[in-house]
Amino acid sequence: MATSVVPDIELQKQFDYCLKVKTLLAERLPGRAPLAFTHTYGCQGNVAEGERIDGMLAQMGYEFCDDASKADFILFNTCAVREHAEERVFSNLGRLKVFKETNPNLIIAVCGCMVQQEHIKKKLKSSFPYVDLVFGTHAIHTFPESLYNCILKQERVFEVPDSDGVVFEGVPSKHSNGIKAFLPISYGCNNFCTYCVVPLVKGRERSRKYEDIMADARQLVADGYKEIMLIGQNVNSYGNDFGETNLFAKLLREINDIPGDFIIRFMTSHPKDCSFELIDTMAECSKVEHHIHLPFQSGNDRVLREMNRHYDRKRYTEVAKYAKERIPDIAITSDVIVGFPGETHEDFLDTVSLIREIEFSSLYIFIFSPRVGTKAASMPDPVPAEEKSAWFKELSDAQEEVAAARSLAMKGKVYRALVEGRNKAGRLCGRTSQNIMIEFDGPDDLIGTFQNIKVTEPLTWILKGELQ
Ligand code: SAM
Ligand code: SF4
Repeated sequence: MATSVVPDIELQKQFDYCLKVKTLLAERLPGRAPLAFTHTYGCQGNVAEGERIDGMLAQMGYEFCDDASKADFILFNTCAVREHAEERVFSNLGRLKVFKETNPNLIIAVCGCMVQQEHIKKKLKSSFPYVDLVFGTHAIHTFPESLYNCILKQERVFEVPDSDGVVFEGVPSKHSNGIKAFLPISYGCNNFCTYCVVPLVKGRERSRKYEDIMADARQLVADGYKEIMLIGQNVNSYGNDFGETNLFAKLLREINDIPGDFIIRFMTSHPKDCSFELIDTMAECSKVEHHIHLPFQSGNDRVLREMNRHYDRKRYTEVAKYAKERIPDIAITSDVIVGFPGETHEDFLDTVSLIREIEFSSLYIFIFSPRVGTKAASMPDPVPAEEKSAWFKELSDAQEEVAAARSLAMKGKVYRALVEGRNKAGRLCGRTSQNIMIEFDGPDDLIGTFQNIKVTEPLTWILKGELQ
């Protein structure tokens, strides 16, 4: 399928709408800038989309606040991956009703993956009458026009087109910090894992043009960003829709060649497309950090087939072991689903044995959550929730042991870390190449720089250290 790129003329129309909103708001709120409160739920892809929406809001003259009760515009950018994420959005939306009662001019908007689902759209229409604007994942570029209509006509706007998805360029993102930036390389997903709603709500995989990504990467380095995180649901298949293979490895090498002191990370790698060439590229590119997030989901081949993952345990372990051979200090992290429909305790034990075999540095463990419209949602699922919770605990305990042993082995060693800020304890903190959090004492002017830190006290999930 050819990628559908939004033409410049349509984008120009949207920039014009930004100015129209700005003028309208200047009339309605004389003497002060309108205030926006935006909150993004979910993955890095959502965060990057939220940053583009913030970029558009800035062009409309909005300033940003952390207190929703003071805002003129509130936006929730939502996630649909698990039921829990959806429940949080509904409960947080419920709390906004009182703000609307005290400020009838407040605009409340909901966008992103959740609203792309018909049953959610209906629920927002009928049960949340104080939500003014709803726009889907394929209507982000027309957000200025939707907001203009919503403010001008003072009527509810629901803009949720059905689409395979579009790519639009030229909207400046408002990055949430000046040190680390997400750089999307593709949108959507073609993999249709049987449990996952992402392909249904984010559309087909669309790669951004190579030159557009390179231009963004050069700009981020010129702007002083120290970490570039390349993001996509499956970065390894970047460019497949242009008929290219292994284009991601080439992209990594070319970004690595941009002059400057910065680091590169990427997420997510799908094991079926993670080539040995990619691992070689990581090993050879000095700016690419020694961390790979390689979600395995299950250690059992039958369950992997039922999940439609297109790799087996053998293939997964081959890639992971090659990565460890080529990059001995690499950290491998992963996502796992516990209690997939039909999974038995015996199948589950294959997952436990895989985490001991690979020795992941950390895991995101999820209990299976049935998603409307996915194949797995209609599969027989006889294991009761309490049993799945017990398996979850069993796996978390096993991973904790693995992580504690890995941390202990770091004691006394020195790691280079990008200093990101201060944590709640008031200590400086950053991440090692392996993406492990490390905290230490030091002055504020180290924030945004690379420092060498010696590990003095390795805890399971965080390292404590001393500046060298
Ligand atoms: N594209 C990435 C990949 O394939 O590895 C992952 C994207 S998904 C947004 C993040 C994680 O959520 C998945 O790796 C999976 O572990 C988890 N997930 C997705 N759907 C789920 C579901 N229905 N129930 C529980 N966990 C789910
Ligand atoms: Fe979902 Fe699978 Fe696509 Fe990841 S690869 S986003 S888990 S369908």
